[in-house]
Amino acid sequence: MTSRGSTVPEAADVRRLREIENRLRREYGQPRHFNPTDPLDDLIFLVLSRMTQEVKYIRTYSRLRDSLSTWHAVRDAPPDELETLIHEAGLAPTKAAQIQAILGEIEAREGRLSLHRLRGMETDEVEQYLTSLPGVARKTALCVMLYTLGRDVLPVDTHVWRVAQRLGLAPAGQWSEARGRALEAAVPGDLRGSLHVTMIAHGRRACRARATTCERCMLVDLCPTADVNPRSARHPPPVLP
Ligand code: SF4
Repeated sequence: MTSRGSTVPEAADVRRLREIENRLRREYGQPRHFNPTDPLDDLIFLVLSRMTQEVKYIRTYSRLRDSLSTWHAVRDAPPDELETLIHEAGLAPTKAAQIQAILGEIEAREGRLSLHRLRGMETDEVEQYLTSLPGVARKTALCVMLYTLGRDVLPVDTHVWRVAQRLGLAPAGQWSEARGRALEAAVPGDLRGSLHVTMIAHGRRACRARATTCERCMLVDLCPTADVNPRSARHPPPVLP
C-alpha cells in the first residue's frame, strides 16, 4: 500500500532513496531541530521561525514561554508587549498578530487552547485544519504533522529542496508548491520524516548553498553534481537557494 499522495516510483529509485536515507541517518541520526513535541507549541514555534536564523527563533520562543507561560496569556497580551517579546525573531508586528489570530481561532473551534484533537484525525483532515488557520502555509502544517503527530509527510524547505536538486531527486529551478508535492509523492512514506530532518542537517553542515564538502560527503558516489576534483573549486556545484 502506498502512503498518502504517493506515486509508485521505480524499484531502482526506491533502492537509491533508501540508501541515501540510510547513509544520512547514520551520519546525523534523527535530529528534531528543537521543534517542541506538542502540536500547538510547535505551530507557534514555526510561526516565529519564519524568515530568521535558527538561533534567534529558538531564543525568542524560550523568552516568550518564560515571560507568558500559557497560551491564554499570549493571546490576551497587549500587542506591543508581545511584539517586544518576539522582536528578535523579526517581523514582530506581523508574527504577533498572526500568533494571536491563530490562538483566537483555535479557542473558537476547540473551546480551549489545544490541538490535541488532531491526533485522532486523518492525515488529510489534519492538513486541511492547519492550513485553514490564519496565515498557516502548507509547509508549516506539514512540519507540525511530522514533528508532533508522526505523520508520513515531507515538508520541503530551502535545505531539503537544494539537497534534493543536487542529488537529482528534484528538477532544476525554484521550489514551488506543486514541485514540493511532486517530491513528497516520489518518496515512500516511511522515508519522508527521516529524509526531511537529515537533509536539513546535511544542507546546513555539508551541502550548503555556496560551499559544499563533496570530497567528504557520504553521498558522493550517489550524487550527480558531486564536485570532487580539487582543481574544480572554481566550478563548484551550482549555487542553489
Ligand atoms: S556530494 Fe556534494 S553536492 Fe552531492 S550531496 Fe554531497 S555535498 Fe551535496
